[in-house]
Amino acid sequence: MKELVFGHKNPDTDAIVAAKAFSYLQNQLGADTEAVALGTPNEETKFVLDYFKEPAPRIIKTAKNEVAAVMLVDHNEAQQSVDDIAEVQVTHVVDHHRIANFETAAPLFYHAEPLGCCSTVIYKLFKQNEVTVPAKLAGLMLSAIISDTLLFKSPTTTAQDEQAVKELAKIAGVDYETYGLDMLKAGTNLGSKTEEELITADAKSFEMGGKKVRIDQVNTVDLNEVFAREAALRTAIEKQNKENGYDLFLLMVTNIMNSDTRLLVVGEPQETVAKAFNVKLVDNKADLPGVVSRKKQVVPPLEKAF
Ligand code: MN
Ligand code: MN
Repeated sequence: MKELVFGHKNPDTDAIVAAKAFSYLQNQLGADTEAVALGTPNEETKFVLDYFKEPAPRIIKTAKNEVAAVMLVDHNEAQQSVDDIAEVQVTHVVDHHRIANFETAAPLFYHAEPLGCCSTVIYKLFKQNEVTVPAKLAGLMLSAIISDTLLFKSPTTTAQDEQAVKELAKIAGVDYETYGLDMLKAGTNLGSKTEEELITADAKSFEMGGKKVRIDQVNTVDLNEVFAREAALRTAIEKQNKENGYDLFLLMVTNIMNSDTRLLVVGEPQETVAKAFNVKLVDNKADLPGVVSRKKQVVPPLEKAF
């Protein structure tokens, strides 16, 4: 019975690559799977797919119309998954996030490790199962690890992520430092994007203290370039909050060159955000030096403050 493998909505490079990698591994082990995606690849992922001449995955809106069972990678929370997740069986999860808002009716294979990237977890599964990583897939997987760890600058980075990139770079035959910076810069091409696209591309939803919280992250090499568009960004966020019922929207604008984030906060409760990061919000904004990771440096303190 065929199964679909996919990462979260608004896919990043890891969500797309981890699905391809885990699908390949499962098929090598005898399963019948197809890697798909819950959205179009972002600019960074497009750069990666072009570089390694890999096609973009097919995009699905629902799963039940094609399969009875699915495998999740790079996420587990229901609101980040396919819309009809409750109507299909989840047989496998491979992830590196907190576990929340997730339950199944049947037993499953669930493999989570607190590493910097889901593709690192999957690389370990290749080794464990003695399956060789093909050169092209190695290139994709090292790209995902560089993306999630911001070339090892994110505090989510572990020694295992660095080691995996070094080993995968040998298989793929790429200079990962040069390639990695080019790849990250390709993802910061913001001028061509609308405000709507900027606040959607890497956004994730969370439930905290009974509130619908939306957190988006935009990577840049120049904070001023993004904040020159602040008024239009606020308008776009207010519109999304209204249309989708978000109580609170946090826009993380992260400078990948010096690993700092400036936060724009739209919605309520503002004071909870101030408390979470021990900052004063000035004109709905705060600078968070050294903060680059939503998962490790933004979600946990915010959750705690709620
Ligand atoms: Mn991801
Ligand atoms: Mn990831």
